[in-house]
Amino acid sequence: MEKDPHKILAAFFGYGSFRPGQEEVITAILEGRDVLAVMPTGAGKSLCYQIPALMLDGMTVVISPLISLMKDQVNALTESGIKAALLNSSLSASEYELTVSRAAAGEYNILYLAPERLHKAELRHFASSVPLPLIVVDEAHCVSQWGHDFRPSYLEIAGFTGSLDRRPAVAAFTATATVRVKEDIRKGLELKQPFAITTGFDRKNLHFGVEKPKNKDAALLAFLEPRKAKSGIVYCATRKTVDEVWALLCRQGYAASRYHAGLDDRERRENQDDFLYDRKTVMVATNAFGMGIDKSNVSFVLHYNMPKNIESYYQEAGRAGRDGEEADCVLFYSGRDTRINQFLITNNHDNEAGEAVIAHNLELLKSMVFYATGTDCLRSRLLRYFGEEAPSYCGNCSNCNTLFEAADISLEAQKLISCVLRLKQRGRSFGKTMIIDILRGNKSEKLLAAGLDSLSTYGIMADTGPRRIRAVMDYLIQEDYLALEGDEYPVVKEGRFWQEILTGKKPLSLMLAKEEPKRPQTDSRGPDAGGRDSRGPDGRGPDAGERDTGKPAPSRQGPKQQAGAAKSFAPPLLSGTDEALMTKLKELRKNLAREAAVPAYIIFSDASLRDMCEKKPLTLSGFGEVNGVGEIKLAKYGGAFTALIREHLKDGVPGGQ
Ligand code: ADP
Ligand code: MG
Repeated sequence: MEKDPHKILAAFFGYGSFRPGQEEVITAILEGRDVLAVMPTGAGKSLCYQIPALMLDGMTVVISPLISLMKDQVNALTESGIKAALLNSSLSASEYELTVSRAAAGEYNILYLAPERLHKAELRHFASSVPLPLIVVDEAHCVSQWGHDFRPSYLEIAGFTGSLDRRPAVAAFTATATVRVKEDIRKGLELKQPFAITTGFDRKNLHFGVEKPKNKDAALLAFLEPRKAKSGIVYCATRKTVDEVWALLCRQGYAASRYHAGLDDRERRENQDDFLYDRKTVMVATNAFGMGIDKSNVSFVLHYNMPKNIESYYQEAGRAGRDGEEADCVLFYSGRDTRINQFLITNNHDNEAGEAVIAHNLELLKSMVFYATGTDCLRSRLLRYFGEEAPSYCGNCSNCNTLFEAADISLEAQKLISCVLRLKQRGRSFGKTMIIDILRGNKSEKLLAAGLDSLSTYGIMADTGPRRIRAVMDYLIQEDYLALEGDEYPVVKEGRFWQEILTGKKPLSLMLAKEEPKRPQTDSRGPDAGGRDSRGPDGRGPDAGERDTGKPAPSRQGPKQQAGAAKSFAPPLLSGTDEALMTKLKELRKNLAREAAVPAYIIFSDASLRDMCEKKPLTLSGFGEVNGVGEIKLAKYGGAFTALIREHLKDGVPGGQ
């Protein structure tokens, strides 16, 4: 077998490079270590175990909570020429037996298994006839009672792995990052000194938006209008709302499907397939829909109602844009959503943990409401919630695009740097919060006791809000005009380039939140005063433990990012693509998918089709360069697609290419 993961990535999956975290996880697995990998939805967790499965001797067992997910994965693997199968209740008795005997004969690299099957005798049988080097636990948060999808049978996994003669490595994957859930996974699966990795949660191709429409139906139709050809999900809080919104869309002529727990199994399955196979473009659903839906060409996820916490929101929204294409994640907020969620949380009596759980869930809800109602960068709020550092301005969310403007901060920068230098002259240095207090002329005991009110910079920014000062300071630190020193209690020092600022030669401009009308004194800490630390459960970050009052916006891109282009939703991005060719490629893909009886995105993702439009390969070797084209797909489909492209260029537009 091939020894180089990069070669497998190219040959079987057709990708040129690993995404963040993938290579590290693969290496750890190949070293025989246990793994706990936390990566956001759409980050590419599957490859992290599928590649080792092709390199290890024996059969990798993947425990996965959902039948639809398994089917999808096995389809995709088979299409790429990888020997995979599944065992769950969807198989007939004879199919089941056949799969079991083939597995025991070592015919598969990967076997997907429902957790409920673990105690069945067949498994002992495999274990004695094929080596089982690796047990993968996908959606591992299902082991935690604190997660949102607890599955009791996940608790049996540890017993199973422990009972094998030779304990396989155990690799756990999840998108849920809270400390409590991670701890439950370690304990519940009895991971042995796992290689633990949490990759960045940022999904750059996702545009985040919040709207507070008076009439949600009208807003929904306005949103969908320019997206008729796109595939997307509309999440609603209740079955009733799903039915109503679905009926509305059908009346308006949309190819809409629906999904909730009130429909019978058969209808749910059919509706889901209609969506996966692109027979219907919009899925209206409760949160019962989605886990295990790996459809890669979902180009928007619209929440008609606000979910009860950010974990759920990010997981559901994250189902958009898995293929890396631009996608929209929009939340429709209304105060009613908050009240309904509060009611549901406080009246949920079936949880034994009682009061503690209710209080916990209300805290989570609060963070969700801050997201929906706040004026700071939506992306930064999400990322900080998951414990990540994030610039306060992303330029690609509805708040950044409408509420931020370029501001001249030259003078403010000078004041800040002067303050730090004055402190230095006295042999002192302080953290961000104290610097802000000095500049604002705060009269706290600590400040007065240290005699800091005698500094010449004391109170020179009394008129500037603390958030704005913090934003400017963060920017100066980022650009090395100031610097942070120390890990646990970092203090602010002058940076390498401070002189450039003080000489006034360098005008500085920054994207900042537009000034809000002054708040009453009592509420000076901003909308998240008293809320959960927006840095998230880990409380990490340089000023952990100190409430993050910083709202506005150090812009990485600098002033060239224009706030004026204020539109909350970017129109679907298609510029530069040969749309006529794209349409033909999609048609061909659809036909091939029908023949193979798999959803279209299993044949090629939209991203791959777009890459074909760009590269317009006419030869097989050229086709092999397209993103997502591995050796098997090259051999299977290269001929048909290159012929179509050749044909297209022949009748093509004057000027050819
Ligand atoms: P997750 O399980 O983390 O939500 P998936 O494993 O379903 O994500 O992967 C999401 C998408 O990203 C899939 O379409 C997959 O083919 C694609 N993908 C994964 N790794 C890469 C890579 N290195 N380069 C390009 N695309 C990738
Ligand atoms: Mg997955």
